[in-house]
Amino acid sequence: SGVAAALLVAGCGQSPSTGSSPSQGQSSGSAKIALLLPETATSPRYESQDRPRFEDAVAKEAPGVQVLYSNAQGSASSQQQQAEAAMTNGAKVLVLDPVDSKAAARIVTEAKQNGVKVISYDRLITGADVDYYVSFDNERVGEMQGQYIADHTRKGGKVVMINGAQTDNNALLFARGAHKVLDPLFNNGTLKLGYETYTPDWLAENGQREMEQALTRLNNKVDGVLAANDNLAGAVIQALQPQGLVGKIPITGQDATDAGLHNILKGAQSMTVYKPVRQEAEAAAKLAVALVKNQDPPSGLVNGKVNNGNKDVPSVLLTPIVVTKDNIQDTVIKDGYTTMQKIQ
Ligand code: BGC
Repeated sequence: SGVAAALLVAGCGQSPSTGSSPSQGQSSGSAKIALLLPETATSPRYESQDRPRFEDAVAKEAPGVQVLYSNAQGSASSQQQQAEAAMTNGAKVLVLDPVDSKAAARIVTEAKQNGVKVISYDRLITGADVDYYVSFDNERVGEMQGQYIADHTRKGGKVVMINGAQTDNNALLFARGAHKVLDPLFNNGTLKLGYETYTPDWLAENGQREMEQALTRLNNKVDGVLAANDNLAGAVIQALQPQGLVGKIPITGQDATDAGLHNILKGAQSMTVYKPVRQEAEAAAKLAVALVKNQDPPSGLVNGKVNNGNKDVPSVLLTPIVVTKDNIQDTVIKDGYTTMQKIQ
């Protein structure tokens, strides 16, 4: 078919493990799963958590199954090529964390035409016939950030919201959750929404520019900043530093990165939302292994359904956790997500 031909052309010369991936096995004939991650610049989680946890989980669940790993470095078109290359190389299941939630529907269409199954990983692929969705309760993440701002911003104070990338369905859910908590307060005058923007590609440089713009617009009168993740919180801190505002106003985050936790310990960032990625990667690995073996998923794993505009997608939705200075030890350290040494 035309698609298969296009797939071969696009796959030509493309290794799904660009660079050095020790995980790409050589033997032909064994079952293969592709792990397609979206970025590295916007959060360290992908290389430090998602990838190793997923690879370890597959190795444990099904030692003979190979994982073909690729990372799109924020490019939706690279991701499409990487998905096609993985299918050309024999992947029967794609575990796909889309750069662009809408654009990735095309990858799903191609996968289906090739009899390949797709698990939408962390970010929902919208308008597509995906088999499963594995993520956290992302609206809840936004509610947690919004609630922190609601509880720690001075009465009548101005709030700035630096949201994630509009092309990431998660960023829409984070913002929706935050607004659910904050809008009633904006509406009754308890707080004011001073400035709000999405951040193209989730990039820190864009986030810093946006925060600088907000400061200019508001004559430096900013009383709380909802930053969608730790990377953006770091950018916000850069922008607030020259104005002497760091440590004086609440700043949120997400991902429990080492840099974010370090900023929390020194009082520059106020909180982060810890998402135990190990649980997410293990759930995705279990589903992927079941699919590649044509088996049913382990019972009890799928715990909900999420409509993605095409269907109700059977989903695994995990629970995020608020982390502040007070519970770092009992959460991220206890779980082995990081160590005290790395964040001090
Ligand atoms: C993920 C976050 C991450 C962000 C930027 C979101 O889809 O859920 O954990 O911080 O993308 O990479």
